[in-house]
Amino acid sequence: MNMLGDRMASRGLRLSKYSIGTGDRFARQARAQLQACAMALASGAEVVPVWNKSNREHSIIGSEPSSVREAADAAVKSLAWKLPYFCDADHITLETVSRFFDSCDFYTIDVAEFIGQPAPAGEIEAFVNRHPELLRSIQLPGTEQAFEITAEILRQTAQKFLAAVKTAGKVYRDIDSAKGAGNFIPEVSMDETDRAQSPVELLIILAAIADEGIPVQTIAPKFSGRFNKGVDYVGDTAQFEREMGLDIAAIAYAVRQYGLPANLKLSVHSGSDKFSIYPAIHSTMKKFDAGVHLKTAGTTWLEELIGLAEAGGEGLALAKDIYGEAFAHRDELCAPYSTVIDIDPAKLPAPAAVRGWSSEQYTSALRHMRGTAAYNSSLRQLLHVGFKVAAKMGSRYTDLVEANEAVIAKNVTENLFDRHIAPVFLGRSA
Ligand SMILES: [Zn+2]
Repeated sequence: MNMLGDRMASRGLRLSKYSIGTGDRFARQARAQLQACAMALASGAEVVPVWNKSNREHSIIGSEPSSVREAADAAVKSLAWKLPYFCDADHITLETVSRFFDSCDFYTIDVAEFIGQPAPAGEIEAFVNRHPELLRSIQLPGTEQAFEITAEILRQTAQKFLAAVKTAGKVYRDIDSAKGAGNFIPEVSMDETDRAQSPVELLIILAAIADEGIPVQTIAPKFSGRFNKGVDYVGDTAQFEREMGLDIAAIAYAVRQYGLPANLKLSVHSGSDKFSIYPAIHSTMKKFDAGVHLKTAGTTWLEELIGLAEAGGEGLALAKDIYGEAFAHRDELCAPYSTVIDIDPAKLPAPAAVRGWSSEQYTSALRHMRGTAAYNSSLRQLLHVGFKVAAKMGSRYTDLVEANEAVIAKNVTENLFDRHIAPVFLGRSA
């Protein structure tokens, strides 16, 4: 059983223990983002950057994966970054993967839509028969907890997840034949679904992933609680911490049992700004001496808006126009994200009122500073999903972003370092 694993583990690109996935919708902030990783390095933590952009984002913006690669390469050159860095084809499927072959070396294989679709009965039986080692009481390393897996649990879990893992295998082999083994980092993601996976389910999923021969380096389960876009976690942080610890232990067990790559780690698809669970992520990583890939969503674009508003003049006027347009089209903009946003329409200020705002009023409503009276999470979420408005403005938007590079870059770097990297990887409170 370990033969496959040894082969899986020993070749090619390897993701470091600590990594951060950042989005950059308009491909103008790679350098400012990388600057935050350079600051982490100066503080003693090697946090490797991964620039992620999904097919949906490319479609809405009208961009190509090559633009992500060009921006990343230019940033790395400009800051003389010596550590690895990656470009992530985020949430790709069999249908969307091919446009990313030239530019990406990290693939988030999203099979969430196949969860619950039953695999053929023969495949389920074959899987159950192949894994008698799971049918006992399993003590996860570093935890007090023992899990009793029965044949019934194994079969039910296979019924829920085997089709999804088999699909991940197909996508993996597609990428493998285009790029060659070891020339990319594979991640399997199951986060965009309704129900959290339990640690036992994760262990069984990893057994199936090993059967498929996927040398998975990161896995993104769905955790319990709500991970809305661009705003804080909603849920029980103590439960999250327990769950994360058990997931890490299940991964460590699976790595040993099935010979999966030794650097396999959790990928937390945070949707950005899950500040209240950052201390739990940090302490759990330390407790288990484990790594993590923290994927933040596209809140860098909100820092562009904050920078424009802070700049005043034309920048502030543009930021207000964008809010006005986003407000006018709020139903259409929110529809694709309905399961991951909670906007209270009563909390959205009228565009006419925003017209009269100062730089300070705009930035303090949008900037995610917990516990401040001016911070407005409904406005933040609307603008977060409103990047289509800026995309439609074309060069009116990007020209002003470029003209105000300094003030924007400062906001991008500070946000990524102070609010994300420092609490998660350095254990500093934000
Ligand atoms: Zn995700």
